[in-house]
Amino acid sequence: MAVFGALERAVGHPTAEELHGDVREAVPGFALKTVYAILRELSTLGFVETLPLPSGAMRWETNTTPHAHFVCNGCGRIIDLPIDPMTLLSLAQRTSRRLRMLRPHLLVRGRCDRCSRS
Ligand SMILES: [Zn+2]
Ligand SMILES: [Zn+2]
Repeated sequence: MAVFGALERAVGHPTAEELHGDVREAVPGFALKTVYAILRELSTLGFVETLPLPSGAMRWETNTTPHAHFVCNGCGRIIDLPIDPMTLLSLAQRTSRRLRMLRPHLLVRGRCDRCSRS
């Protein structure tokens, strides 16, 4: 499966367009909408996840275990943090009973090792 392979090889959290570029190197003429269709299918099956980022293109990853994300202010790199965001849910729920909370996402911003060196 070319799309899943490209997603597994991709460093970090690629967009469908980035994956499309990768897949097309191996399979010329592969359509972007096919990449989208496969990603949606894999997501329904639980093999891939989308990142709940508030802005920018949708990003995909094969890491489906609950985790937090670090986003670098310098280069935009997204790094997985082994923290389960579900631990935030009960804390968040205590702040408002009127909101129906489903999926917490923990996002930490800062500068990555590469960017803080320069
Ligand atoms: Zn950086
Ligand atoms: Zn991730």
